[in-house]
Amino acid sequence: MKRFALNMLALAMLVATLGLARFTIDEYNSGIVWPEPAAIQPGNSSTAPSDAIVLFDGKNLDAWKNGDAWKIRDGYTEVGGKTIQTKQAFGDCQLHLEFATPTKVKGKGQGRGNSGVYLMGKYEVQILDSFENPTYFDGQCGALYKQQPPMVNASRGPGEWQSFDIVFTAPRFDEQGELKQPAFVTVLHNGVLIHNHYKLPGGTFWDQPPHYKAHPEKLPITLQNHGNPLRFRNIWIRENIHPLVGKQPEAKQ
Ligand code: MG
Repeated sequence: MKRFALNMLALAMLVATLGLARFTIDEYNSGIVWPEPAAIQPGNSSTAPSDAIVLFDGKNLDAWKNGDAWKIRDGYTEVGGKTIQTKQAFGDCQLHLEFATPTKVKGKGQGRGNSGVYLMGKYEVQILDSFENPTYFDGQCGALYKQQPPMVNASRGPGEWQSFDIVFTAPRFDEQGELKQPAFVTVLHNGVLIHNHYKLPGGTFWDQPPHYKAHPEKLPITLQNHGNPLRFRNIWIRENIHPLVGKQPEAKQ
């Protein structure tokens, strides 16, 4: 019995020691001195985050060129006249836009509710009425045109508001015009991931295979007029898409 008590005491001491040991393990700290992440207002379903550049808030197309024939009413703009370009040029970005294909269904395939958002005026994320409207898969809504179909068809019906959230890393070229790094794109369609950091093999063309041709780091974004009266609203863009950089700790001697 005495022996049992001694054993129990030894066990209790061991547990206590192990417990103490647990508390003397140091918390990991990288030593990197981080800048404080900026506090922003994130916005809601109809407003932009506070650090975004608003490209269209339902009132005017002042941020765009060639929009004279695009009608504006009830907080949206409707395709008309020409393809429009942002006055400002953009490269790496997060882009949000909302669109609705025509309520009145007309045409089929590529002829139904066709438009498109062209990053840098060169890399098209296809906009199309792809609700029960078959076409070639790498040309349906959300496709990186003639390069990659969306993972799923997350389209809503004709006339319903839909959204694209796009994260784009622009390609980089060296001084000789050689490609240093291709473009990458991530796209959410109505909140659903349809491209995950897809590596673009080049510009998107109707009549040519994808290829790169050196261009500036920033270029205007374009919204296509493909002859169908689509509507757009709530368009905004953020350029702050790069990781924070901290100060590395000094090397230990
Ligand atoms: Mg198109």
